[in-house]
Amino acid sequence: MLADFDLARPGKTFHDLGPITGPLDGVAGDVLCSINNGQGPSVLLFGGVHGDEYEAQIALRRLAERIRPEDVTGRILIAPSINFPASETGKRLSPFDGQNMNRVFPGNPQGTPTEKLAAFATGSLFPAVDLLIDVHAGGRDVSVVPMVFGFTTPASKVDETALTDLMEAWGYRFVQHVKGIRETACGAAEAADLASIEVEGGGGRMKSSELRIMEEGLMRALSAYGVLKPALEPARFRGVHVTAGPEGQYVAARAGLVEHLVGLGDEVDAQTVVALLHPTAGADPKPEAIRSPMPGYVLRQTEHVHVTRGQLIGNVGTPRTASA
Ligand SMILES: [Zn+2]
Repeated sequence: MLADFDLARPGKTFHDLGPITGPLDGVAGDVLCSINNGQGPSVLLFGGVHGDEYEAQIALRRLAERIRPEDVTGRILIAPSINFPASETGKRLSPFDGQNMNRVFPGNPQGTPTEKLAAFATGSLFPAVDLLIDVHAGGRDVSVVPMVFGFTTPASKVDETALTDLMEAWGYRFVQHVKGIRETACGAAEAADLASIEVEGGGGRMKSSELRIMEEGLMRALSAYGVLKPALEPARFRGVHVTAGPEGQYVAARAGLVEHLVGLGDEVDAQTVVALLHPTAGADPKPEAIRSPMPGYVLRQTEHVHVTRGQLIGNVGTPRTASA
């Protein structure tokens, strides 16, 4: 046991995550908020698995402050910056061990700070809830359309139909379907028969419009799940289910300067020129045209102008066929 928190204490409690890692030079622990009000659904929300994904962390910190225990039925646990050593130092990865938290799950209670935080989530927080919502954002490197994707198992309390309804309740335009990765938070949840949803959106400079979309999506989802009294009009799903795999990525064949010709969420055909890659030097200014690898929608774009060979420029998700 890494820390002995009373996650069932009635009402709202802010716990200190500091003891999980132990002292870290110059970094104080962040909070874990538990809100309990009787029997009902239970959910764990965390942000900041990647420390530079700040929209998620701001939205969750606001939710932890504004949700009143009397508006809750059941249990809500919120850790706005679960990987606080990275967040507080402005980094995607922890400066204390250089690890990517979303590749160290289920973690190790005797390991590095990042492994300890992952082990705490898996060992102490997952067993206390029936649903994980892991909120990400684009971070420093990419911008991402607002979208959600999720996972269930035959034994998870939230089943596949309920999960789909819940993902549509976000009111986002895109519900993504991807193959899970075992070492992620969602992967560890799957191994523990815990249903999970990962949220994406924003990145680069912080825009208030993207913050609002993230916060409102979470509130709609919590209400649809039945754990929070509705405060917003439910959104009717008018979006699209897409699949997104490595085949939808377009990368730089050589170092160059990226000019995007399409916007996030734009519909593209196979062969649509989505970006130009300009040379960084030389007498010939002619750029190379980069085409969409498949028809679909632009989900992600690099925030960098200068890219190196093999670096991601963007990716496309393709609408899911009925049989998929
Ligand atoms: Zn992330």
